[in-house]
Amino acid sequence: MPWGRRANGVIRTAVLRLEPGPEEEEKLRLVCELASKLWNELNYRRRRLFFEGKLTQQKLYETYKEFYYMYNRLLGSATTQAIIAKNDTAWRSFFRLLALKKKGRLPPHIARASPPGYRKRSRRRRRLWLALRQDQYRVDTERGIVEIRRLGVAGVVRVRYRGLIHVRGRQRGAEIWYDHDRRRWYIAISYTVEEKLIHGRGWVRVPMKPRGSLEAGVDLGVDNLLAVYVENGEGFLVNGRPLKAESFYWQRRIARYKSVLDRADGAGSTSRRLRLMYRRWRARIRAYIDAAVRRAMEELYSRGVARIYVGYPRGIARRGDGNGKLNFERVHVWTYGLLLRRLKEVAWEYGIEVVEVDEAYTSQRCPLCGAVHPRARVHRGLYICPHRRLAMNADMAAAYNILAKGTKRTITPSPEALTHPHRLGVGVTPPRPGARGGAYPRPSNQ
Ligand SMILES: [Zn+2]
Repeated sequence: MPWGRRANGVIRTAVLRLEPGPEEEEKLRLVCELASKLWNELNYRRRRLFFEGKLTQQKLYETYKEFYYMYNRLLGSATTQAIIAKNDTAWRSFFRLLALKKKGRLPPHIARASPPGYRKRSRRRRRLWLALRQDQYRVDTERGIVEIRRLGVAGVVRVRYRGLIHVRGRQRGAEIWYDHDRRRWYIAISYTVEEKLIHGRGWVRVPMKPRGSLEAGVDLGVDNLLAVYVENGEGFLVNGRPLKAESFYWQRRIARYKSVLDRADGAGSTSRRLRLMYRRWRARIRAYIDAAVRRAMEELYSRGVARIYVGYPRGIARRGDGNGKLNFERVHVWTYGLLLRRLKEVAWEYGIEVVEVDEAYTSQRCPLCGAVHPRARVHRGLYICPHRRLAMNADMAAAYNILAKGTKRTITPSPEALTHPHRLGVGVTPPRPGARGGAYPRPSNQ
């Protein structure tokens, strides 16, 4: 089954900023306080049961009922249900992970399975957070207002929002929270996606229909974020260096800030400032990945590609040379997971199937003569074939090998594409790491 497609469709979330007036904000605070309290109390009970080895299906159900009757008058039945259901989901997915772990098949990007946590921002203070059922709110895009109903003691709240919704489809649940660092309110609305607003295309029904039936191999890396080899002998590279530069910039900036802190006595707002720095770093990386992946998919789609094979590194240590490995680990630990996820999400929109291929050996075999040349991967990302006396781009060679490994077809290598790959512009202004203002476009709603 293609990734992310469940029986009831693919889900996308749009995050909007809420701008409540004083009266609405007071109501939101009240409901969010209560919602967080409900979550924490219910979760505390369930965690205790779990650690005593007593959290069965029956106990999940019993605690559901108990807390529902405790809170439904305050929060309203819809909100109470939405919050408890959210906690149920968290426990169920934790149990699924536990089952996988028992079989030794925990997904590579999940280090360990831990039970659902609390809605807290410090030891004593709750986060302001709220879950809503799909029938509890309405988004008025004409007037830019979200109306939230059935909030128990708070009744109905109408709040202005900012942001663009890139998704159309069946409305699902939503979550509201207050971001204590940014001091802003947000709502995340989930949809079963039917249409997407794609830059340069307008509203399109998704998934789109592929234009052809070509296949391509994709290698994910550091200097080249993506290397793509299409079976018809075309190919392209997407630059990864801006990401590296961005990450080095933020690492330095954060280190400098910390060393200043060490000299001064720690003020109260310092951890907030640090969190904001990490967050900006992450936001910029995300924006670049979004733009790069979108650009690559447009390209693949217009060339008639219907399926891509993606090299799936075992762990993150993937490069033969120690230096590359170090860079990849330091800079790209979480980037890699994000990149793969976005690749799958955007590919789905374009109707392109993603197949993961075990990458073992794909960067060692010579595409031209099929041999494994010892120490062929010389330097500066070149792979040299001594028989044909050609210097290939090593990432393109890997992409070719991933395709050859994944597909059932015979792929005749194109020396042209392997030696002189086309470089794809990402279509964003060249990054000035950390520059104020948006060198990248705002991250789109997923
Ligand atoms: Zn060779």
